[in-house]
Amino acid sequence: MAEDHEGASPGRPAPESAEAWFARVEAALDGDRTLPASPPDGTARWDAFPFVIADDARTHPVAPLAEFDRPRTGEGSSPCHCAGTAMPGSIEDDPNLMWRNDSWQLRRFERTGLPIIAILEPIAHHDLPELPEALAGELGLLMVRLAAAIETLPSVGRCHVNRWGDGGAHAHVWFFARPVRHPQVTGSVVPLWDDLLPALPDAVRDANAAHVARELLARHGGIALMA
Ligand SMILES: [Zn+2]
Repeated sequence: MAEDHEGASPGRPAPESAEAWFARVEAALDGDRTLPASPPDGTARWDAFPFVIADDARTHPVAPLAEFDRPRTGEGSSPCHCAGTAMPGSIEDDPNLMWRNDSWQLRRFERTGLPIIAILEPIAHHDLPELPEALAGELGLLMVRLAAAIETLPSVGRCHVNRWGDGGAHAHVWFFARPVRHPQVTGSVVPLWDDLLPALPDAVRDANAAHVARELLARHGGIALMA
């Protein structure tokens, strides 16, 4: 029997609508439309949370539900960054490009306080939910092999893998190198710490990226674009 992807079926409740979700949020707001910023079991109570937040601090006023999701680059009239690239490798002069093969390319983040942040994306324009199956399969291999490559850096404890995709409609997966042996720069707050930590000197950033490119080349082939 075909699955019903749209909503309710006999004996099965429908998934919640956006309006119903937000109605519950609004019911929890106080008079100035804020929420507690530091609830007892919240992230702000973690030892790893980078900011000091007073017990009675509040959030910014919570905006109403928008009529539409905010458009991303590559949607509507906004061209994607891949528009106009004639062929794979046509952006090889990008100084942040670390590695590529016929289907994928990997860029490092230019400014970071972490050992490395890298972004993996398909060369052809696809969003993640529409990746062709061959690319989806290779993405699985690349996630494993790139995480392993990043974790060979001596300053790295773990590679965190994230997909947000709220800024651009071109699929891209983030790889955050979490420093080894630091008890606070850990878990889901690592991107917050990245903004606060001093940036890597250029020579260190470049050496780390070149090491990762070589390690990925050894594991997955392709072309390492950093010496
Ligand atoms: Zn694109």
